[in-house]
Amino acid sequence: MTLRMNVIIILNCCTRFSEKYFNLPVARSLCISRCQVLWQAMAFPEEVNTLKVELVNHTANPVEACGRAAGICYDREAKEDYGSFIKRIISYGHMDVIEHANFTFRVEGISRACSHQLVRHRHSSFSQRSQRYVSEKESNYVLPSLENVSQEKRNEALSIMDDFIRKSYDVYSSLLKLGVKKEDARFVLTNAAETKLYWTTNARSLRHFFIMRLDVSAQWEIRKMAQLAFDEVIKVASELFDDLIELRNTGHLGHPVYE
Ligand SMILES: Cc1cc2nc3c(=O)[nH]c(=O)nc-3n(C[C@H](O)[C@H](O)[C@H](O)COP(=O)(O)OP(=O)(O)OC[C@H]3O[C@@H](n4cnc5c(N)ncnc54)[C@H](O)[C@@H]3O)c2cc1C
Repeated sequence: MTLRMNVIIILNCCTRFSEKYFNLPVARSLCISRCQVLWQAMAFPEEVNTLKVELVNHTANPVEACGRAAGICYDREAKEDYGSFIKRIISYGHMDVIEHANFTFRVEGISRACSHQLVRHRHSSFSQRSQRYVSEKESNYVLPSLENVSQEKRNEALSIMDDFIRKSYDVYSSLLKLGVKKEDARFVLTNAAETKLYWTTNARSLRHFFIMRLDVSAQWEIRKMAQLAFDEVIKVASELFDDLIELRNTGHLGHPVYE
């Protein structure tokens, strides 16, 4: 077990202990956010601790499903090798055939800044934790790693951000106590607020998402999210996505999208 994992476990224990025995949101906030800041500033700044992307559902045999759909165009649905067939079809840019494979992800631990970028992809379906119906009093938040800032200034910058965000949660709680509705109190919260959602998309739309969001030019959090989503789908539908492996690993496609 790595030092990093040990520290995370200790942080989680501190948090649970303070919540259970003192029921103090402040203690919780201090445990999580302050330590998270220090930890992020200390090491592995590129890593997003809480981000989780799980493939919870998908079309059965996605490669075959798309291969059969492509086969009907040529009146030959039954194939020996759907994998190489679908790879060839993709390389031609004949993309409607891969709309027949759907994937559903459960995403958690992303900021609202990230989810806002994700939901811009219009061919996907989303169901997101509501800030209208769910109180954000006990919620976590995501801090950027500030990789472009020098180590010594990064600690100070993270501390400023952390203080500001925690203050926004204090104000939020005060507003709720005054009878302000959750849907109105949320106006004081920041883009850092952590959220979770279900995301359903088809292979064509997902490839487009990967091409845009695995690229080095993408913002770090959605890029990390795209990498995790890629790692999930490659396990179940390799031939639909494996021409993008270099992009996943380097942030550069390295070849034209289609022949
Ligand atoms: C590096 C980067 C920087 C960005 N900066 C900004 C920014 O400053 N401001 C901002 O608002 N957004 C920004 N975006 C978001 C971007 O503009 C898109 O809204 C987002 O990436 C969704 O991609 P999309 O529109 O290609 O695709 P999707 O919604 O995933 O659609 C896929 C494809 O379907 C087609 N399509 C979908 N809808 C239509 C339509 N109505 N008409 C015609 N064709 C359609 C297009 O070919 C499109 O590429 C940025 C994205 C990236 C990756």
